Amino acid sequence: MCLRRLLQFSPLQRAWRAAFRKHGQCGHQGAWRWTHSGGGPYRAVIFDMGGVLIPSPGRVAAEWEVQNRIPSGTILKAFISGGENGPWMTFMRGELTEEDFLQEFGRLCSEIAETSVPADSFFSLLTSEQVAKQLPVMTEAITQIRAKGLKTAVLSNNFYLSNGKSFLPLDRKQFDVVVESCVEGVCKPDPWIYKLCLERLGLQPSESIFLDDLGHNLKAAASLGIRTIKVDDPEVAVKELEALLGFTLRKAPPNTRPMSKTMEIPVESLEKHLKALLGTRTTGPLELRQFDHGQSNPTYFIRLAEQQLVLRKKPPGTLLPSAHAVEREFRIMKALANAGIPVPKVLDLCEDSSVIGTPFYLMEYCPGLIYKDPSLPGLEPSQRQAIYTAMNRVLCRIHSVDFKAAGLGDYGKHGDYIPRQVQTWIKQYRASETSTLPAMERLIEWLPLHLPRQQKVTVVHGDFRLDNLVFHPEKPEVLAVLDWELSTLGDPLVDVAFSCLAHHLPPSFPILRGLSGCDLTQLGIPTAEEYFRMYCLHMGIPPTDNWNFYMAFSFFRVAAILQGVFKRSLTGQASSTTAEQSGKLAEFTSELAWEFAIKEGFRVFKEMPATKPLTRPYHTWAGPRSLLSTPGVRSYTPHPESSSARASKGALVVSPEGLSPPVRALYEQLKQFMERHVYPAEPALRSHQASAERWTPAPLLEELKEKAKAEGLWNLFLPLETDPERKYGAGLTNVEYAHLCELMGMSLYAPEIFNCSAPDTGNMELLVRYGTEEQKARWLPPLLEGRARSCFAMTEPQVASSDATNIESSIREEDGFYVINGRKWWISGILDPRCQLCVFMGKTNPHAPRHQQQSVLLVPMDTPGIKVIRPLTVYGLDDAPGGHGEVLFEQVRVPKESMVLGPGRGFEIAQGRLGPGRIHHCMRLIGHSERALALMKARVKSRMAFGKPLVEQGTILADIAQSRVEIEQARLLVLKAAHLMDVAGNKAAALEIAMIKMVAPSMAYRVIDRAIQAFGAAGLSNDYPLAQFFAWARALRFADGPDEVHRAVVAKMELKHRI
Ligand SMILES: Cc1cc2nc3c(=O)[nH]c(=O)nc-3n(C[C@H](O)[C@H](O)[C@H](O)COP(=O)(O)OP(=O)(O)OC[C@H]3O[C@@H](n4cnc5c(N)ncnc54)[C@H](O)[C@@H]3O)c2cc1C
Repeated sequence: MCLRRLLQFSPLQRAWRAAFRKHGQCGHQGAWRWTHSGGGPYRAVIFDMGGVLIPSPGRVAAEWEVQNRIPSGTILKAFISGGENGPWMTFMRGELTEEDFLQEFGRLCSEIAETSVPADSFFSLLTSEQVAKQLPVMTEAITQIRAKGLKTAVLSNNFYLSNGKSFLPLDRKQFDVVVESCVEGVCKPDPWIYKLCLERLGLQPSESIFLDDLGHNLKAAASLGIRTIKVDDPEVAVKELEALLGFTLRKAPPNTRPMSKTMEIPVESLEKHLKALLGTRTTGPLELRQFDHGQSNPTYFIRLAEQQLVLRKKPPGTLLPSAHAVEREFRIMKALANAGIPVPKVLDLCEDSSVIGTPFYLMEYCPGLIYKDPSLPGLEPSQRQAIYTAMNRVLCRIHSVDFKAAGLGDYGKHGDYIPRQVQTWIKQYRASETSTLPAMERLIEWLPLHLPRQQKVTVVHGDFRLDNLVFHPEKPEVLAVLDWELSTLGDPLVDVAFSCLAHHLPPSFPILRGLSGCDLTQLGIPTAEEYFRMYCLHMGIPPTDNWNFYMAFSFFRVAAILQGVFKRSLTGQASSTTAEQSGKLAEFTSELAWEFAIKEGFRVFKEMPATKPLTRPYHTWAGPRSLLSTPGVRSYTPHPESSSARASKGALVVSPEGLSPPVRALYEQLKQFMERHVYPAEPALRSHQASAERWTPAPLLEELKEKAKAEGLWNLFLPLETDPERKYGAGLTNVEYAHLCELMGMSLYAPEIFNCSAPDTGNMELLVRYGTEEQKARWLPPLLEGRARSCFAMTEPQVASSDATNIESSIREEDGFYVINGRKWWISGILDPRCQLCVFMGKTNPHAPRHQQQSVLLVPMDTPGIKVIRPLTVYGLDDAPGGHGEVLFEQVRVPKESMVLGPGRGFEIAQGRLGPGRIHHCMRLIGHSERALALMKARVKSRMAFGKPLVEQGTILADIAQSRVEIEQARLLVLKAAHLMDVAGNKAAALEIAMIKMVAPSMAYRVIDRAIQAFGAAGLSNDYPLAQFFAWARALRFADGPDEVHRAVVAKMELKHRI
């Protein structure tokens, strides 16, 4: 089935509206255009300005006099005083400047009034923007006249303002000819100026009609043969003009049509009712039209004299008691208007069926713009943004109404709105089911199981969409929210979701034009998520996690409605084409609903916390008990160290979305910092590393460190269990930190910027865990503040250091000091000028049992006898300024207090140090890999080879897929290790730590290698971070202990614990 063709179908719009019991009031005024001409013998209409197009100066003067206690009639007398040569007429001919005129006119007024008259204040009022603006009735009339092909002119006695421009507060584009007395030097009623106007129009006097409020001006026109209309009341004058021209000058509201026979209402009876209701304001005939939609509750437009009203009534016939409740609409609109919500003002509810056959209510007609197309064609991006913001704001205002105070406490039930709605629409759907729609079946099972746990209760509109809003024609302001038929009390998020339906529908969707596939950023329209977040921000609430549930429910509701339409059309209430179309649309929207249900399912899955340790398998080896009880079936035993107290510390959160709100906020903050500061700084930092100054720290990096510190993005690494009082760090669990650490791993420079880089993190953790108070006091502050850096010295060139028992450097006790001798290499960070501390591992007792020979000392880097021999390079990279150094320790003496924990406890410390600090590398490697994959994807989309983008090459696609899978696998294992460390301790997590250390570097190595390959030669260059990532991933296959050693550990444990 071709969806496009299906979606182009339009009769369904009616069905939709019927289903939603809709009405509308008006549309885009600009869309109104006549194509044929009319006007009988007349070919032009000439307008005077003051008193015809804009308010009369005489009337303005009369009001001003009352307000300023000036004797009534003073200004008028001054206007005519001196006749042709009086100051007013001289000013009109442009012979006086504004200043001279005001002086003379003021003096004249004061003489007439016999008191001082501030004529300039009157003049300011007369020419002010609020007074001098064109009357809407005239604007409408001019539009109609021009639409009929007739010409228009303005013939005005006016004057020059002090800015040198003539006073003409009109849009000149409305007129074919403008004749101004001050410009021509001649005033009406001089016949010359009328002739000039006719000449410019190119017409005979008999072909034009002239409107003026002054009798002598009209007389002069009439004597030339021009047809005239005296304007006392502009509304009446327009009616007179209509009669002369023979066509209407009052625009029929958009979306209305003449009443159809079947929808007629008794006009006389209605007119009587209206006259009783509106009193004197009702002279003139009653104009009655019907709105195109609103078949459920028929809706009419009424014009009676100056009144423009909308009447909404129940349909005729027997109705269910709750259906078509116009009384409810009337009630809520009245209450909301009182609460300050923009709704059309309701005037009267008539429940007496004898008037027009059914109950009805009346409201004011609200002119303005209704945007039917959500892409808002013809507007600027900033205007679109403003329209959607206004829409969002008005919804917030509706949802913020204190409904009890507004008298709506009993307008609906107060709880369980969503469960009730879900059941209602399931029932509706079942009642109209014609065949099985698989998505609907799934949703019927799914929705009740995923109901929101908490719901607010507010006024709910029930059908909140862009095309139910009337906007101000000139500014992004909602003048009225229409169509309250489905309103009730309920969960406000249903309205928010409903207002985002269009975002997910195609532009050709027949009943609601959609936005899917449009470039919203370019259009300036907020995405559904942005719209939702905007709502939450305005309402001051945190973004709801289960937003996708609301979208699923909203589309489910639409699908159920469409199915109802389909069923009705099958039973002969609509054409067979409609039947076919709406059935397909129901299926389409049900599938959309299910897509949201899937998204929600993934969110729930991602946030699923781990269950308690005693009920959940942690280790992947089978315990003896399980083998005894159920042979052959794999079950799991928790490590003895596990305890429920520990379990409460952590949850296995598999994606950042599942982090607790504060950690999530921290994550987002970190992400933004990376985007705003770190990635943009990378090229400069890379250049620094390649420059001659590279052995001094980059000033830019120091700047970024200060920024990060100021934002609190600092020392995030210390795990909660090491630092339970959060004395030193952010107090994150290992799982929480894993997500943040991965993010830092996206850039090689980021870890140091946040003071979370190796080897300092491991050393700081060592100090917190095992250091004496003195050791902590001395070394922790400079390291935690990022002023100092440190190194860890274990590896030695002369022995296979992957076996730490081989370490030969000696630590001898001498005169209350420890004296160190030995050669170390690959000591990362030792070349950094900021490196102040060396955590040194050496042998204190070669005769002790193998694992008790080693000890750890804290050695200040300025201790005599430490000699850095050379920096080592990794694939030619020297990793400045920290570097990896080869170092000689010759007779290096440190006080005995420098010993950590005690002699022979080096292994114990190394084991502890190898906990969290060691999997940080793995977390960062996941970040390197994600970044490499992201760079690769962007690159292959933009490069063409052999006639098509690289991304279309099968091998590239396979590489992308492979990388994604490998990253996901490794991440899950990292998170599992971190989770175990949180809930069962580092020792219990030994297997997972070994496994991930075995997996992560080679995974990253492969993913980065594929990215480099896809990049071509550029991938090896210093222009991108790939080469450095690659070198580092490769190095980590040794630096964190060789792969083989980890493999040996895994194998050993596997053999030990599994039969
Ligand atoms: C970039 C970088 C930074 C480093 N930073 C530091 C640092 O800050 N401080 C520090 O002390 N050290 C550091 N190291 C050194 C690192 O810890 C050692 O390289 C590592 O422990 C291996 O020791 P080794 O080089 O002596 O290799 P060896 O022990 O000589 O091993 C050589 C190879 O033998 C094989 N092998 C070893 N054991 C087994 C086994 N059980 N089964 C099978 N095969 C095996 C492996 O393939 C191994 O790669 C760093 C290394 C690099 C590359």
